[in-house]
Amino acid sequence: MGKVGVGLAVGCAAAACLIAAAVVGRRVSKRRTWRRAVVVLEELDQGCAAEVGRLRQVVDAMAVEMHAGLASEGGSKLKMLLTFVDSFLNGSEKGTYYALDLGSTNFRVLRVQLGGNSSAILEHEVERKPIPQHLMTSTSEDLFDFIASSLNEFVEKEGDPELSSVKRRELGFTFSFPVKQTSVSSGILIKWTKGFSIENLVGKDVSECLEQAMSKRGLDMRVAALVNDTVGTLALGHYHDEDTVAAVIIGTGTNACYLERADAIIKSQGLLTTSGGMVINMEWGNFWSTHLPRTSYDVDLDADSPNPNDQSFEKMISGMYLGDIVRRVILRMSQESDVFGPVSSRLSEPFILRTPLMVAMHEDDSPDLREVARILNDVLEIPDVPLKVRKLVVNVCDVVTRRAARLAAAGIVGILKKIGRDGSGGITSARIKTGSQSKIRRTVVAIEGGLYTSYSMFREYLNEAMAEILGEEVSPHVILKVTEDGSGIGAALVAASNSSPSVDSVQLL
Ligand code: ADP
Ligand code: MG
Repeated sequence: MGKVGVGLAVGCAAAACLIAAAVVGRRVSKRRTWRRAVVVLEELDQGCAAEVGRLRQVVDAMAVEMHAGLASEGGSKLKMLLTFVDSFLNGSEKGTYYALDLGSTNFRVLRVQLGGNSSAILEHEVERKPIPQHLMTSTSEDLFDFIASSLNEFVEKEGDPELSSVKRRELGFTFSFPVKQTSVSSGILIKWTKGFSIENLVGKDVSECLEQAMSKRGLDMRVAALVNDTVGTLALGHYHDEDTVAAVIIGTGTNACYLERADAIIKSQGLLTTSGGMVINMEWGNFWSTHLPRTSYDVDLDADSPNPNDQSFEKMISGMYLGDIVRRVILRMSQESDVFGPVSSRLSEPFILRTPLMVAMHEDDSPDLREVARILNDVLEIPDVPLKVRKLVVNVCDVVTRRAARLAAAGIVGILKKIGRDGSGGITSARIKTGSQSKIRRTVVAIEGGLYTSYSMFREYLNEAMAEILGEEVSPHVILKVTEDGSGIGAALVAASNSSPSVDSVQLL
């Protein structure tokens, strides 16, 4: 081989080496970037860890905070609000009652007919309406005028002459925001949550505002009960099953209420109720404990929210936020690796990935995760995501949902602990004596809200965590019962029990 030949051969070899090096280099960097995305998931997983030991710490913290909130006003982040609901119906009542359920982007008007036949609700009719977005941040007058006119339309549509002839109607008003109750039928708005912000209603009597709007429309209706959605759910739960001791809502927001002994409500000493008990609205969305597994995504979500340092528990659990936590994790993955290609500007838009979309990705059971690809493409404008990256996204949804469900379970057991139904005081406190034998008391928790009722993975994770925390012996005796439409129908029930003094009501405890 001449000099030229040798030169050419060397040149070719060098070129081949360079190409090979480039290919290998690209593979290595691809592997590195994939690894970085996986690390984001692994860190999320560690940050969200909610093993049973930690959940038990959350249970204890919840019970401690409940005590503190009952001991003094402002004693805890849990407001533990008095509801003045101290008894429930016993099923013998008759009559037609109305309810209005306001607490999210939809509101509902209901008519409930009680048949007087133990726990039978003859019929109920519901009409749903979205609240126009602009009314959520408008004035109190605009909002209540809209509600009163919808109520008026509902009443005017009544074909039944017997109903049309009713003069004064009794209404249960479900208003699912923190309210300082002044009686069972009146209360003052403390603050807005869930995206509502109507400043001129804060500090005002909510029932009075509604009654003014109704009378302006010529509607003769009295607010006989002002309740929270959890209280309505408990009322309906109790109507159907007397072992119901608490109610939990996990929907757009999250909250819980339960039956407390009046003498345990230390901040209202001397509180007398006919039943010796009262329903307490916990406002548990605002629960906070250092035992909660909090990640940098939660910290950022909170800082970017209109109510920083508020509703921390809710921000880890409820439907308003889960999708946005997932969006933040995908954004981080996209910034730290190129598994999603160039960073999509959509990923920086808060709340663009709504929880139902996240749920659809999590529940995608197609072999090629088609729905995940579609949502990434259509909503987040991230096209052509390879299958293994789609799997990563499903894992993110899983971690976020699992943590939410397990924390909600810990919260529920916290309530049971406070009232001695979790079996922790030795199994004895959860037992009742029947003759010489004793058995564990049946305990029912009414549960409502889109996240629990429509999201099977969430439900399964929550139920699984309940069983883990309570253990084999107690857990079969604790029943979570879906109480659909409880927030509305229950308000009508509370209205019924407060509309006529002659109505018999049962003792709570
Ligand atoms: P609200 O709490 O607003 O009264 P719901 O109890 O119906 O209403 O809950 C609605 C919330 O549930 C939505 O904000 C959404 O986050 C969540 N959600 C709605 N549809 C689904 C679904 N199919 N699967 C899981 N969660 C859902
Ligand atoms: Mg609701």
